[in-house]
Amino acid sequence: MGRPLIFCSVGTRPEAIKMAPVVLELRRYEDVADTVLVSTGQHKEILLQALDTFGIQPDEDLAIMQHGQSLAQVTSRALDGIDGLIQAREPDIILGQGDTTTAFVSALAAFYRRVPFAHVEAGLRTETIDNPFPEEFNRRAAGLVASLHFPPTEWARDNLVREGKDPAKIFVTGNTGIDAVLQAANLTDQRWLPDFKGRLILLTTHRRENWGEPQRRIAEAALAIVNEFEDTLLVVAMHPNPQVREVLCSVLSDHPRVQLIEPPEYASFVKLMQRSTLILSDSGGVQEEAPAFGIPVLVLRETTERPEGVDAGTAMLVGASKEAIIREGRRLLTDREAYRRMAQAVSPYGDGHAAERIRHIVLRSLGVETPEVAS
Ligand code: UDP
Repeated sequence: MGRPLIFCSVGTRPEAIKMAPVVLELRRYEDVADTVLVSTGQHKEILLQALDTFGIQPDEDLAIMQHGQSLAQVTSRALDGIDGLIQAREPDIILGQGDTTTAFVSALAAFYRRVPFAHVEAGLRTETIDNPFPEEFNRRAAGLVASLHFPPTEWARDNLVREGKDPAKIFVTGNTGIDAVLQAANLTDQRWLPDFKGRLILLTTHRRENWGEPQRRIAEAALAIVNEFEDTLLVVAMHPNPQVREVLCSVLSDHPRVQLIEPPEYASFVKLMQRSTLILSDSGGVQEEAPAFGIPVLVLRETTERPEGVDAGTAMLVGASKEAIIREGRRLLTDREAYRRMAQAVSPYGDGHAAERIRHIVLRSLGVETPEVAS
């Protein structure tokens, strides 16, 4: 084989954040291999904003998004776009991340062209293929095709082994999201923080299963908490999705201790997390990142494909139940011992060296030996 060419494929903000450390790490070895960052453009501004934090941008941008597209249209446009790139540039391996349509399509395009596919953040599972929708399908399908699996934890590894995947192709690496969050936290330039002396509660919600009524209950619960605790400020980082915004604005506008803000770029968001006393979120990434700073998270979902945090005690599932959110929020804001137990639980998601492990294994699969990471 000549000089290997690696595609790293992303489409959304979380993929950009979790793939960025892998791209940067592979590029440290650019004397032996070429790495091309491919974006489908499934998200637009927030994807580029996330990459910008790491000083990278897509080398290839398929810009597939059009207003009001169905999932099938996103899928077919992305598939066609990635297939064209594979044909034009002939990569030796394609890396995809997580559970998005982009991840699924990258795997499928690789499979059709007989190019090896490596799955970053492999092995997360819930019990039903349509919950979360369509992510559970996407990650299972990506796993079906992958010739290298990079589960973040032993739990995720076990899921893959149980499905009959070859253990020799599975490597527990830790979650690259932890690499990303630690790198972002180390950036020293000034970032935005609200001008408030008291305790900060951070809310993010965007997940499809919470659209509509559940989101309204979440917003009402957050409002009740901020009303009850006068030393708190509720900061709501609003996802660009208009459906989500409409509900959040209708419940939370015009309160002196609620700030509805545009989604901060990644490093500012990380600073905001670090400054928070409590986080309410249905985000997968936030669930993993907050424990790295010892910030308790109430997870606004009924089930999670990331049970490790719940088992370790760093996160608690409260769903979209108004009563449960208020009850647990109140407990954490008043009961020091309960707070301490969650804040001091050990983060199960990684040690910040996942990208190095992935670089080592990917390059080795292409016949290039590079230094291994001490575990
Ligand atoms: N994030 C961000 N700005 C925000 C909200 C989230 O940079 O306003 C980051 C967050 O730290 C995490 C990722 O975006 O790394 C999570 O993205 P999202 O919640 O959209 O997706 P999920 O993780 O649920 O797939």
